[in-house]
Amino acid sequence: MPRKLNRILVVDGSEVARTIVVRILNEEMPETEIITCGTVAEACAWLERSQFDLITTALMLPDKDGLELSRYVRASRHHHYTPTIVVSGDADARLLREGFAAGVTDYFDKSLGYRAFAEFIKDFMQRNSGLVGRILYVEDSQLAATVLMRLMERHGLQVIHTALAEEALQLLRDTAAGGPKEDEGFDIVITDFFLQGHLTGGDLLHAIRARFHYSQQEMPVLVLTGSEADAKQVEVFHAGGNDFVAKPIVEEVLMARIRSLLLIKQQFAALKRQTDAMHRLAITDSLTRVYNRRYLLDHGEQFMASRSNHPVAAVLLDIDHFKKINDNLGHITGDRVLETLGRLLLDRLPEHAMAVRFGGEEFALLVPRCQSRNAHNCAEGLRREIEALEPAGVTITVSIGLASNQHHPDMTLTQLLNHADKALYAAKAQGRNKVCA
Ligand code: GH3
Ligand code: MG
Ligand code: MG
Ligand code: MG
Repeated sequence: MPRKLNRILVVDGSEVARTIVVRILNEEMPETEIITCGTVAEACAWLERSQFDLITTALMLPDKDGLELSRYVRASRHHHYTPTIVVSGDADARLLREGFAAGVTDYFDKSLGYRAFAEFIKDFMQRNSGLVGRILYVEDSQLAATVLMRLMERHGLQVIHTALAEEALQLLRDTAAGGPKEDEGFDIVITDFFLQGHLTGGDLLHAIRARFHYSQQEMPVLVLTGSEADAKQVEVFHAGGNDFVAKPIVEEVLMARIRSLLLIKQQFAALKRQTDAMHRLAITDSLTRVYNRRYLLDHGEQFMASRSNHPVAAVLLDIDHFKKINDNLGHITGDRVLETLGRLLLDRLPEHAMAVRFGGEEFALLVPRCQSRNAHNCAEGLRREIEALEPAGVTITVSIGLASNQHHPDMTLTQLLNHADKALYAAKAQGRNKVCA
């Protein structure tokens, strides 16, 4: 669904002011359509025939005043929650006294100038932009569904409607992480409590919590109930609902609830992104971008124990005479060599394999489902590629020690790495730039 352009109605008695405001707003907000007029009567005519996302009005107008326009806006069918901003020359006492009752959303002090006005409007639109979110809406009454969908879509929401809880569960399954339609996930679920299929809204809710294990923050659920007794409401909360709205639906109540649930969801998602980023930092070696040693200690045994990874090849790789690079070319060049080598290892890493910075200039690779002979060929290929790499303009070679648990499936990670270490030692002893198994 293409996102509609924002439209702003600017009401000001001065033609000069209107011209300047339009020019600046067009500059600052090219994606927004600005309509202007000079009187309350003209403004009302505009509000009758089109839809606006924001109204700004001068306090003093040739026919009536801005507060009267605001009262008209609040009483109108299509605009009664469109934000209305009064632009006035001073902090008028009347505004403070009557503004709230007249439904004024905010004020702007005209003496701050047109540029500041444009900034204020831009900022206001960003803070109060239409609701953004994908809603899974489950409702068995086609009539109710049509009305509510139109209403939510008018507020900028994307709504996917199903009549049955069973269908909703299928959609949730498909759009779950790892599912075929992962990118089309929902932000919140809104469900009617009474549904005609085998499952009620309560069953759907229960499945979302107990089967999908979605927390109330991860998948907020809003339940639409009839106007029955408190017992039903208790049931809604008991089943894991975040909130309910009683029918008949009051648009402003519904939208307020949706807004707060979307906020919960968005904050949860932001927190999760942050936690994931911190976790990545904690397990990654910052210089080479491969896993750090701690990750290997925490996850290596599990990797070895998994039968589906069997047989596992361990590759220990150590840069030859690296100390000389540091001594002759400096530590910074040494770092750049390590960094480039890390990138190469990540590029060449077979699927599901693990690359770890094992020590200063020593790396470990754990390669799952890898036969010994295959491991030897891969290691030899890697050795040759590194010889030709010239990271940071320096020619380097590596010695590689190989071990496999192919014939000893019960070998521990420590034992496997010990074998690989012995092989590495042998490679060094045999003159370096070699693969030993
Ligand atoms: P060999 O062929 O026997 O492996 O010789 P080598 O010089 O590579 O081995 P040695 O263990 O003597 O030296 C390793 C050097 O790696 C010493 C240490 O200063 C350097 N080193 C370890 N970590 C880093 C790092 O993060 N950056 C840089 N620039 N150097 C590091
Ligand atoms: Mg129903
Ligand atoms: Mg070395
Ligand atoms: Mg070393």
